[in-house]
Amino acid sequence: MEYFLTEDQLEIKEIARKIAEEKIKPVRAKYDEENAFPWEIVKVMKQTDLFAVLIPEEYDGISGKVADLTIVTEELSRVCGGISLAFGATGLGIYPIMISGSEELKQKYLPQIAAGNKLAAFALTEANAGSDVGGIETTAAKDGDFYILNGTKQWITNGGEADIYSVFAMTNKAKGARGSSCFVVEKGTPGFGFGKKENKMGIRGSATRELIFDNCRIPKENLIGKEGKGFMIAMKTFDKSRPMVGSQAVGIAQGAFEEAAKYSKERQQFGKPISSFQAIQFMLANMATQIEAARALVMTTARMIDSGAKKYSKESAMCKVFASDVAMKVTTDAVQILGGYGYMKEYPVEKMMRDAKITQIYEGTNQIQKNIIALNLIKKYTK
Ligand SMILES: Cc1cc2nc3c(=O)[nH]c(=O)nc-3n(C[C@H](O)[C@H](O)[C@H](O)COP(=O)(O)OP(=O)(O)OC[C@H]3O[C@@H](n4cnc5c(N)ncnc54)[C@H](O)[C@@H]3O)c2cc1C
Repeated sequence: MEYFLTEDQLEIKEIARKIAEEKIKPVRAKYDEENAFPWEIVKVMKQTDLFAVLIPEEYDGISGKVADLTIVTEELSRVCGGISLAFGATGLGIYPIMISGSEELKQKYLPQIAAGNKLAAFALTEANAGSDVGGIETTAAKDGDFYILNGTKQWITNGGEADIYSVFAMTNKAKGARGSSCFVVEKGTPGFGFGKKENKMGIRGSATRELIFDNCRIPKENLIGKEGKGFMIAMKTFDKSRPMVGSQAVGIAQGAFEEAAKYSKERQQFGKPISSFQAIQFMLANMATQIEAARALVMTTARMIDSGAKKYSKESAMCKVFASDVAMKVTTDAVQILGGYGYMKEYPVEKMMRDAKITQIYEGTNQIQKNIIALNLIKKYTK
């Protein structure tokens, strides 16, 4: 389908595809196997100015547009849904600063991201607070010109590797979700350390780690927005970042589709290529149609956000839930088309199926997305 990309968008798409094909493809299996963080690829992303896509021009970037973030994420994820997160999760990590940060915080941190000198991470989830984000137990106690953070964050993407963390903590526990606030915490701050590194099913070329705050003292200027606005900042961040997860899902699905289509022409059974069987043809037709529908929903949502629309929670949730379900279905079908070979690590589709699963879980599970969609619909049709 024609998405009428601008010259600039075509250029960043081309750069991302080149990095994915030439640099990521040869090493994706190694990173998957080793469950390691791909610093050699981050270096290439920095050299090609890819991180500048995340940041608006006034902070030394080249875009800051959601559509451009999704274009890059899809291309990187088409080859590896895990390695793409060094880029995508950095986008997620800096959104709280971009959305609600003071001018000082923006000037201090955004140019460093644009230059690719530092990665970012978003730290909300805890052992006892996943979908129920109002249940976080990490605290931030005011102490003169400082806040003192205590608590543990779990499953933080880019954890341990990033330098800049948007961290959510309770400043007033009694107020529940309205008592949470968001802070920038830099790696290296005394009292801020890292715990368990997760051994995951998929996206193994990304880091997922615990963050531990033990009397971590940060200046009060690191508060993002106002005290008590943490929940609102988290929700606004997710509204803006869910198309990124949608594009990660579209990319993974596209990669799996291409592998399956190619294989179906090469594999011979009963004296002919399996692509000559209608059962395989219909699977390929369904896969391609679902991918295109998901891409269209992601791109339209991203453009809606970039247009300055004020409300887009519903659309953002719709594109994430739809694209991630498509990724799961398409990658599973790709394994099916490759038969027993699809189940083996010699072919990339089993990895793509493992990578796809997370898109239905993080940045709000698909059940939570449906809650958001339904809530918005019911509100609209209530007299
Ligand atoms: C690899 C990985 C990377 C991650 N990266 C980050 C990160 O960078 N930053 C971060 O902050 N978090 C991150 N997370 C956390 C992720 O966002 C949470 O796992 C997710 O929000 C779900 O929370 P949970 O796992 O605690 O599931 P739970 O909330 O315990 O949910 C369990 C099940 O119950 C369902 N459920 C819960 N509540 C409801 C409800 N009200 N209605 C219907 N169904 C419901 C869920 O859909 C799910 O099926 C990451 C997780 C993983 C696995």
